[in-house]
Formats: sequence, structure tokens, C-alpha cells
Amino acid sequence: MRGQMMNMPLLISSLIVHADRYHGDTEIVTRTVEGPIHRYTYSDAHRRCRQLAGALQKLGVEQGDRIGTLAWNTHRHFEVYFAVAGMGAVCHTINPRLFPEQIVYIANHAEDKYMFFDLTFVPLVEKLLPELKTVKGFVVMTDKEHMPTSIPNAICYEELLDSDPGDYAWPEFDEHTASSLCYTSGTTGNPKGVLYQHRTTILHAYAECMPDALGLSSSDSVLPVVPMFHVNAWGLPYAGAMTGAKLVFPGAGMDGASLHELMEDEKVTLSAGVPTIWMGLLAHLKQNNAKFSTLKRTVIGGSACPPAMIRTFEEEYSVHVLHAWGMTEMSPLGTVCTFKRKHRDLDSEQKLALQNRQGRVLFGVDMKIVDADGKELPWDGKAFGDLLVRGPWILNEYYRGEGGNPLREDDNGNDWFPTGDVATIDPDGYMQITDRSKDVIKSGGEWISSIDLENTAVAHPAVAEAAVISVAHPKWDERPLLIVVKTEGQDVSSDDLLKFYEGKVAKWWIPDDVLFVNELPHTATGKLLKTKLREEYGHHKLPTA
Ligand code: AMP
Repeated sequence: MRGQMMNMPLLISSLIVHADRYHGDTEIVTRTVEGPIHRYTYSDAHRRCRQLAGALQKLGVEQGDRIGTLAWNTHRHFEVYFAVAGMGAVCHTINPRLFPEQIVYIANHAEDKYMFFDLTFVPLVEKLLPELKTVKGFVVMTDKEHMPTSIPNAICYEELLDSDPGDYAWPEFDEHTASSLCYTSGTTGNPKGVLYQHRTTILHAYAECMPDALGLSSSDSVLPVVPMFHVNAWGLPYAGAMTGAKLVFPGAGMDGASLHELMEDEKVTLSAGVPTIWMGLLAHLKQNNAKFSTLKRTVIGGSACPPAMIRTFEEEYSVHVLHAWGMTEMSPLGTVCTFKRKHRDLDSEQKLALQNRQGRVLFGVDMKIVDADGKELPWDGKAFGDLLVRGPWILNEYYRGEGGNPLREDDNGNDWFPTGDVATIDPDGYMQITDRSKDVIKSGGEWISSIDLENTAVAHPAVAEAAVISVAHPKWDERPLLIVVKTEGQDVSSDDLLKFYEGKVAKWWIPDDVLFVNELPHTATGKLLKTKLREEYGHHKLPTA
């Protein structure tokens, strides 16, 4: 027997329609790439989304077409998100920090039909132009006054919008239709595309807004620092429209001073980003003896958040840290660290210890850890193994089938996505990442967590950033090497740093040597680039070897 309820597909256009109808006067504020602050409302945004969709239709954009973007977090990028997906085309965000060859590969692989880009990326597009084989037109996301002359036949974004009256009617189609596309920033091999659907995007947004996740609401002012070119800014533009939260976009101003100014001016209550961004912001606050007057919560993920950073936010700035984990293949949110009722009487040290974990799954995601034979490991907070996930917003297959079937079937015939992460799960279901499986250090047959060793190092005041990699050892196969960037104006010796580990980790985990460097390499999404570190320092001769 079938149920007798309305059959309404879950479509992204419904989010912006809702935001217009029920939160029409709520603001969206942008630090524009041109400089000034731009301010308008969800109603204004919706009108302009319809203008853009109408104009794209006239340009010949059809359902399923991929529209590339090379753009910061701005109101215009927000409009492209909703206009493109709303009309049934696919918004393909490209990370402009990738190597130019990778951008060319990605745009050609996706067969992007139009390319939207910010003024910042004009020089980049000029260079790539001859190689972008499928792109029919280039749209500069600016007004007439700022239009560059160097790109032949470039379309001006504001003129494109002005060419349409804005009476476009959002079409209804199957909720499984593709809505956006984001390539993984894999450190080996070619990037692979993850193709999201309308249905998965909406379900993910619902889950993300729940109180035990990010707890987004219409009373929030949300500043996504995480870029819109990285897994749809963790879904925040959709969640913002769903709840009617005020949205604040930082544009290209990602430095500590610009972010802090915007947070204060726009009374931001919730922000989200990777640890490296917060390092810059915290350093700025410290140097200027500044505080947050409205910020209540900040979501930190993308890499492990060092416990020292969680403590600083909580104790010095009274900002609650929501440690979160996910990946491009998971839309991205899998877990968030929030407390259960049973934790309400914990003291602040116990709470901080819990927050070091990446947290519990959102409803919809299931996870397990397995050993090398695929056997499930216990949830005792100690055993660690490969982390597998399944759920309705988790990838089934990469775009155009690249890499074959990524899933693993269990004995019950259920498919699981292997995350490539190694983790523990405690009896309450709190997951903690110990490493990427490629990064674990295998010393004498036992595993050492590089993340644990990095977290311990950055708790030392003279350490600004730390990386731990494995180095070949004649007796133990591999041993940890600590690579450190010192805090400006501070000094520390190798011996002191190694002593600092005593009593904090098992004795045999303590790194065998320390190297001091001026900076550490990062991926285009702000993660430590361990492949590069291993290339450079993997042959370092350890004093113990
Ligand atoms: P991406 O697809 O670029 O978002 O990268 C996903 C990967 O980032 C995950 O598989 C993890 O290895 C890592 N990651 C994300 N969040 C965290 C976190 N909170 N702690 C540790 N690693 C994380």
C-alpha cells in the first residue's frame, strides 16, 4: 500500500523560493572583490537568480550542462549556485588554488559550457583560455566599470543580469537530477568529480541545521570562511537559505584583519573554516588585543583541529568550537562533536578532551571501523582501523565512472564508502581520526598517529605549525620525524620539544628527530601536503638509525 502524501521533489530552487517568501528582508552581505561592502536581501537575491537563469537560458544553457566557476564567497557566486542548479544545470565550482594544469584538466573533463570567474582570476583565465576546449563563453563576475579588456568577447555579469526581466519560472524535475559538481583535491593521480544531486543537497542541509550538528537558525548571522569552491562551502549557502539565517560572505578578504572586521560589523554568530584560516585570525586577535563581541560558535574541520586551538577559542574568546569531519565525497558532513545529555556535568577539561574527537554522525550517515580483513572493530575508543561510511548523501560513483567502483560490499550486501581515514570510535559513538591511512607511521608493526603527535607539538607556545611524517628506519621500518614552524619571535630547541612529549604520549611514539623550517606546504584546500614533505624529508637520516 502506498502512502497518500503529496509528491514534491526536493529541489534546490525551493530553498531560495522559501528564503524569499519567509525571510525576504534578511540580509546577505558581501565584501566584494571590487572592494566595497555589498548588502541586499534574500528577496533581491531571488530576483537576480531568476534574471540569471533567464539569461542563461537565452544563452542556450540546457538541463545537465555544466557551468564552471572560479570564484570567492560572494553574493554573485551565491546567485550562480541557485540559478544554475535551479534551472536543472550543474554548478561546477573549481578551486582556483589548484595548479593551472589541474584546472584545465578539470574544466575539460567536466566539459564546462560557460565559465564564471571573479576579477581576481582574470590573469589565470587569460592564460588558460586557449586550452579550455568546451567553454563557449566567459562571464566576468563584475559590473561594466570593472570589465577587463584582455579577454575577447567576455560577458559582463551585471549586464547579463540586466538583459533579463527576471520572470523565469523554476522548472520541476526529478530530485535525483545532478545539481553541482566538485572535484576532489587528491594528492595523487587526477582529481575525480563528485556529482551532487538536488535531493542529497537538501537532505544534507536539513541534517546540517539540526541542533546536534551546526544548529543553524534564522537568528544566526553566518560567515562561511570555507570557500564556495570547496564542497559547496560545506553546504552553508543551502542551509542559510533553508533557515533564513543572515549570510556574510568574505570575498577575497581571507586575512585575519578583514575577517575580524566583517565578523564584528555584521554581528556574526557562527563561522566555519579549516584550522589554517583560524591560525591567521587568532594571531591577528592576539597581536591587536582584540576580541569577538558576537561570535558564539565556530565550525572547524577539513583537517584535525589542534586541541590548543579549541582551548584558545573556548577559554580566551568564549567561542564554542564544533569540531567536524567529512569529505568531498560526503557532501561533506559526516560527524560533528556536540555533547550528549550525559555530558552536561563534565568539567571544562573533560569537555575539551571530548571536543578533540571529530564527533558523532548526523542522522543519515552510518559508520564503522574495520581491520585489514574487513572485520568490524570494537567501539572502545582504542582500536583503530579503516573508517567506512554509508548514507544518502555519500558518493556512489565518481563522475564519468573514473576509478571504477569505489565502494566495498559487506557480508549483508550493503555498500560502504572507504574514506581513506583511520579512526577510533568510543562506546558513545564519538569518532576520532588518527590519520589518513597513507600517513600513519608503522613502527615495529604498531601504528603511531601523526595527528596526535602534531597536536601535541602545537600545544607548545613556540610552535606555530607542525607536521609529522614517517622516515625509514633500519630496525623499526618507520619512525616519526617532527617538522616545525616556530612561532614568530619565539625559540625552542629540538631537545626541549622532544622532552615536551614526555608524559603526553607513549614513550615509543616520541619522534626520533626534529627539523625546523620556515613554512609547511599545504594543499589547495589548506591541508598539510604530506606527499611533498615525504619527498623532501623522507630520506632524512635519523640519529637513531
Ligand atoms: P576533502 O575531501 O578535501 O574535504 O578532504 C577530506 C579529508 O580531510 C578527510 O578524509 C580527512 O582525511 C580530512 N579531514 C576532514 N575533516 C577532518 C577533521 N576534523 N579531522 C581530521 N581530518 C579531517
